[in-house]
Amino acid sequence: MPGSPMKIVVATEKPFSKRAVEGMAAIVREAGHSCVWLEKYTSADELKAAVADADALIVRSDRVTAEVIAAAPRLRVVVRAGAGYDNLDLAACTERGIVAMNTPGQNANAVAELAVAMMIFMARNRFTQGTGSEVCGKRLGIHAYGHVGQIVARYGRALGMEVSACDPFITDTAVFDRDGVKRVSSPAELYRNSDYLSLHLPATAETRGSIGYDLFVSMPPGATLVNTARKEVIDEAGLAKAMTERPDLKYITDIAPDTAPELAEKFGTRFFATPKKMGAETEEANINAGLAAARQIVSFFRDGTAEFQVNR
Ligand code: NAD
Repeated sequence: MPGSPMKIVVATEKPFSKRAVEGMAAIVREAGHSCVWLEKYTSADELKAAVADADALIVRSDRVTAEVIAAAPRLRVVVRAGAGYDNLDLAACTERGIVAMNTPGQNANAVAELAVAMMIFMARNRFTQGTGSEVCGKRLGIHAYGHVGQIVARYGRALGMEVSACDPFITDTAVFDRDGVKRVSSPAELYRNSDYLSLHLPATAETRGSIGYDLFVSMPPGATLVNTARKEVIDEAGLAKAMTERPDLKYITDIAPDTAPELAEKFGTRFFATPKKMGAETEEANINAGLAAARQIVSFFRDGTAEFQVNR
């Protein structure tokens, strides 16, 4: 009922920063609701116990499974503070009439900066000795032109790169023209013509395992694939096959592949994975996403606003 105090559980295996927590608590308090924090928990049972009387749930990369939903009989809204929401069981939410949301764009700049840093890190031989190369004048392909992809494109242009992008769901060419980006209609064309390919696909039933041998092996000599999206979109066997056949190809990723040890051993300096996912790990992104999640929940309980609902 609008106006009633609601209990909001914030469950984070990897907690929000102190400033994010303070800001979120203030937003919730001012709206007359209460917050309960479950931080650094280690088992799904702890999460299930915490949501037993929750009206709302905020998570980061935490898994909200059908079991967690079943353990939360009062739950009306779940917000994933971040962009990807493949950690939420949307079908289970929908079945119970629970609104699931993400906070699109709030961490996009952090991820985009990391993608550019990764590109230059590989161009400069991972900051080891030897002659590197410059990204200026090279061709940058952006696969999926959402919040992150669009910022990477602008940074690429600022670095003097020729930028192309492929996103079948953006039909308004003005979005690409505005950024001075060439719109390409197929991934095949994009990969074939990109010295650097920055991947920003969400993990969906359609995209899982969709980037593999054919696309990677079609890239120009010395090309680098940069993945700040999800490991699930990569066909790891296909990637390894392409890198075996083509000793000039490089792969850098923010999300360690399942086969990371094998790839590291086999491909040495041509492969790099961050020790833990760090695309959105900035103080700014943490605060932006956390505060947005708290505000979205307050608006939802005030008047049913669900602008960023992902399970319509
Ligand atoms: P977004 O929702 O703004 O953009 C996703 C884009 O993908 C949309 O433009 C959509 O049209 C496009 N798309 C969907 N299916 C496609 C397909 N089959 N082919 C081509 N394009 C397709 O999301 P975002 O904020 O840009 O983030 C992109 C992804 O990056 C997220 O889904 C998430 O998995 C990942 N991410 C990673 C980190 C990290 O820490 N490394 C942080 C945030 C996001």
